[in-house]
Order: sequence, then structure tokens, then C-alpha cells
Amino acid sequence: MTRRFALMIDPAAADVARSDFADTFTLVDAAAPALSVGELSTQRGDGVFESIGVIDGHAQEVVPHLERLAHSAQLCDLPLPNQAQWHQAIERAAAHCEQGEYVIKLILSRGVEHGPTPTAWVTAAPASDFSAVREQGIRVVTLDRGYDLDVAEKAPWLLLGAKTLSYAVNMAALREAHRRGADDAIFLSRDGFVLEAPTASLILRFGERFVTPAPNGGILHGTTQLSVYEHLTARGFAAEYAQVPASDLSRADAAWLVSSVRLAAPITAVDGVELPVDRALTAELNDYLLSPRD
Ligand code: PLP
Repeated sequence: MTRRFALMIDPAAADVARSDFADTFTLVDAAAPALSVGELSTQRGDGVFESIGVIDGHAQEVVPHLERLAHSAQLCDLPLPNQAQWHQAIERAAAHCEQGEYVIKLILSRGVEHGPTPTAWVTAAPASDFSAVREQGIRVVTLDRGYDLDVAEKAPWLLLGAKTLSYAVNMAALREAHRRGADDAIFLSRDGFVLEAPTASLILRFGERFVTPAPNGGILHGTTQLSVYEHLTARGFAAEYAQVPASDLSRADAAWLVSSVRLAAPITAVDGVELPVDRALTAELNDYLLSPRD
């Protein structure tokens, strides 16, 4: 049986100091319509979201996800989510998940046009099976994102550091990667620096040193990358943020795309050029990422 779950949240209660938010939640049928047809802002992608991995009923990295949701909301001029309220909604959703891997999604949209409050909801559903991808890896192509590395400063209204509901461009990039015979994409800035993948962060290994593109406002700061860095640092490796020129991709001793649900996918080739795969470290990272973490 696949267990799906959906909970509407009333964000109007966000200002209220209290410890129990049960009366601000409405359980809805995950298979039935729940949003108003006037939910224009969701249609426009005018909102923010998070995807949280759940392993055997344990929601992973909840606080970093809630912090990023708040950061995204702030960038989009949305009311700040009440962390305690969302925390309780996540606990409810996690309690509904069975053994195995699930994904909890948090959605905060601007709501019905001219409406008084945002619309907010949480869902839980079984995750896809990524075990083969975690072992066998992925082929990636580089795609031009069409702007320079400093665009976040010059054009903050592009909301590049926010995880907005507008993922049409990211999905188009994945389709382009598939058309080119690859599994995934890595975005490059127009001035030749590595950014991120459409739904994942990139980590490169050079000897004992690990590097990820600095989240300088133009890309998301990945919660999985943060966790991997904690693990690598504890193992005594140097784990750094840097401006990564595109030419560094083919020089790497190993590379991974990391994200909350797929976890660490080793990159086997970039633009058709084979890359070494560190199988032992990949297995170690995925074991770590599958262990319960807060
Ligand atoms: N970058 C983008 C554009 C993403 O969409 C995601 C996740 O969906 C990530 C990076 C990785 O973030 P996380 O590790 O928090 O899942």
C-alpha cells in the first residue's frame, strides 16, 4: 500500500505564540482536489517550497530545510513561516510515513489573488527508488544558465537564491539533458563558472580537498551538501566553497550531485568525457545520508 498524506496549514496563526498548532491544520484527502481554482499564485509559481527526505519515518535535516524555507520566503516578500507550526506539520507527515524512503514537501504560496493570506500545505509520498543511481551514477551535460556569476547582486528580483515554485526552467534543462543522452545537467554561468544542477548541488573532489560552488545568492545552499561537508570535515578532509571554473569539472578526481531525496549520485561523465568514480566514498556518503540526521 502506498501511503500518501496531505495537510493544509493556516499560516494566519503564524504570529500567535503557542505550543500546539493542531487547530491550524486540516487533514485533506491527498488524492482529491484541495486548492481553490483562484489559487493564481501557485499557477504563476509565486511561492516557495522544500523537499525533505524521510528515512524509516525520520524526517532528515528539518531545521536546515525550515531555515531555507524562511530565507526563500523572505526573498519573495512572503510572510515568514512560523517554524514551530511547520515543525509540527512535518512531524504529523513523518508519523504517516512507513518504513523505507519517503519525501515530504512543504509549500507556501502567495495564495488566492487579492486573498488575505498565503496558502500553505505539507504532503508526504513514497520516494522513487534511487538505489541504482546511487551505485551506478549519472552522466551529465553542462548547460548555459544565460547569466553571469554576479547576477544575484545585479538583479535580485530574479530570486535566484530562493527555492521558488517556478521550476519550469529547471525541468526544461533536465529534458534538454535527456535529449543529449545524459541523465542530468550542470548549469554554467555565462562567464564560465559552475553553478548547480537543476535539482541538486555539485561537490567535486581534488585529492584530499572537496569543493562546491559558493552559494553567493545565485544558487541554492543545499542541505545535503551541508550534511556531506559535516561528514567530510569530521573525516579530516578539507571541504571548501569556491568559484569553480567550468574547466575544473574534467580535472576532478570524483564528483557528485547531492540532494535530499536522491542523495549522493556519482557523476560518471561530463559532456561525454568519462570521470573517475570513487565507489567506496560514494557508498560511505550514501550510508551516512541514509542514517537519521537532524
Ligand atoms: N539546487 C537546486 C536548484 C535544487 O532544486 C536542490 C534540491 O532540490 C538542490 C540544489 C539541493 O538541495 P537539497 O540538498 O537541500 O535537497
